Amino acid sequence: MTTTYEAVIGLEIHAELMTNTKMFCGCRVVDSVEADPNTAVCPVCSGMPGMLPVINRRAVEFALRVALALNCEVQSHNIFARKNYFYPDLPKAYQISQYELPLGLNGWLDVEVAGETRRIGIRRVHMEEDTGKLTHLERGHLERGHLERGHLERGHSQSGHLETGGSLVDYNRSGVPLLEIVSEPDIRSGEEARAYAVAIRQILRYLNVNSGDMEKGVLRVEPNISVRPAGSQTFGTRTELKNLNSFRSLAEGTAYEIERQIGILNAGGQIVQETRGWHEGRRETFSQRTKEEAEDYRYFPEPDLPPLHIAPEWVEAIRTSLPELPQSKAARYMADWGLSAYEAGVVTEERAVAEWLETAVAAGGDPKTVVNWLINNLFSLMNEHKQSIEAIKVTPAGLVDLIKLVDDATISHSAAKTVLAEMYSRGATAETIVAAKGLAQISDADALSQIINQTLVDNPDQVQAYRDGKTTLKGWFVGQVMKATRGKANPALVNQLLNQALSDPQ
Ligand code: ADP
Ligand code: MG
Ligand code: ZN
Repeated sequence: MTTTYEAVIGLEIHAELMTNTKMFCGCRVVDSVEADPNTAVCPVCSGMPGMLPVINRRAVEFALRVALALNCEVQSHNIFARKNYFYPDLPKAYQISQYELPLGLNGWLDVEVAGETRRIGIRRVHMEEDTGKLTHLERGHLERGHLERGHLERGHSQSGHLETGGSLVDYNRSGVPLLEIVSEPDIRSGEEARAYAVAIRQILRYLNVNSGDMEKGVLRVEPNISVRPAGSQTFGTRTELKNLNSFRSLAEGTAYEIERQIGILNAGGQIVQETRGWHEGRRETFSQRTKEEAEDYRYFPEPDLPPLHIAPEWVEAIRTSLPELPQSKAARYMADWGLSAYEAGVVTEERAVAEWLETAVAAGGDPKTVVNWLINNLFSLMNEHKQSIEAIKVTPAGLVDLIKLVDDATISHSAAKTVLAEMYSRGATAETIVAAKGLAQISDADALSQIINQTLVDNPDQVQAYRDGKTTLKGWFVGQVMKATRGKANPALVNQLLNQALSDPQ
């Protein structure tokens, strides 16, 4: 008999906070890819002896936003702790983190997976500082010019040993405020892990505390994965998965790890508690190192920082200033505007898009119609030009004006698409473009009747054939009228007037 297994997964998510300055010093937080290495560093964040850290109030505020948005209980008494370990990216040889008394505890987040709502517990949300960044060189790397801008010149001007390999360290990231969000082991599949991580990223972006850019490493997701016989209440031995730089890798890596563990257990083996890496090319996990136990870090209260007391009034002020979150927006759009779950999901993915839509509706746009224009037209223009909604020239009120021109039949729907593309590239109003391009439809019944009558007079044979029963000629007549008006006749009106004219014996 084969055992059925259930997966048990808990996620640790590290998010850098987009403050102006670092967690414990005045150095600026800079883009890890664009800034030159080691240009945003001071004695505090490079671990010089005797330097004293000072807590960044803004970082605490950002952390509080997240803790509250994730329904955590906020601890008013916070202490920072030293997590001791040696590694070249950690110049102090300890990381200031939170251990026993973290900022937020016992939160939760509801996640939709395959049409079902799953509530995932949030064990803790705590503040810490990021480490520096190492770049490991392979022999010959410098000669082959594989390094990015900046590294190369420095590498050459420095000692020769780099040219035979070695590692470079950039302390720009050292001391950047970092938030760790630890879930309960409530997740049951790779897809659920992905849905939870996507929802966390979306909330971080709504709160303006993190850009969510996984490729740049400002958001790092590490699942802890174990399996157990279905129905069992005890946990199996877990592995922790690292180097996942996309949601796809998170889902696939987790699924791979679940199957790997089940395979070992079915073969009578045992799971080794360890940290495993995800090999992006081979799409499989591999052993990186066996796991340290917490006591290896010799955590103790940070003696250079006083306990941090967080005033309840401050917490309440932040709570009231939180933006409406994506799930609540989506639910509201479905209830009030009749959007489908799909539509509501798409337009709430980004806070800026949701706000753009709300502005358009406030300007008198019909929600469904505006959403259709967004999803079917504006998003493709944005994709084509690689622009976010904040950057585009089409304003919410501008789109509403365009929709009005379609509604009152001034222009056809297909002409409106041309107008939108023009509005997108030039930023002109719909009216201006319609006038300049002569796109207005002829909806004047008298003018159209004249053209129709002339068409019938010019084509007596076809009229006779039609009246003798060849009704398929109707389309041909419509085509003649369209040609005469250079495509500008209001098609519905042409149809109606043609029917009359053709049935009237002349
Ligand atoms: P650490 O990794 O620092 O030891 P924790 O023990 O608190 O921290 O766990 C980290 C994450 O691992 C949490 O998200 C938790 O839910 C998850 N976790 C703990 N035990 C297991 C397990 N047996 N299987 C899967 N996930 C687990
Ligand atoms: Mg861990
Ligand atoms: Zn500094």
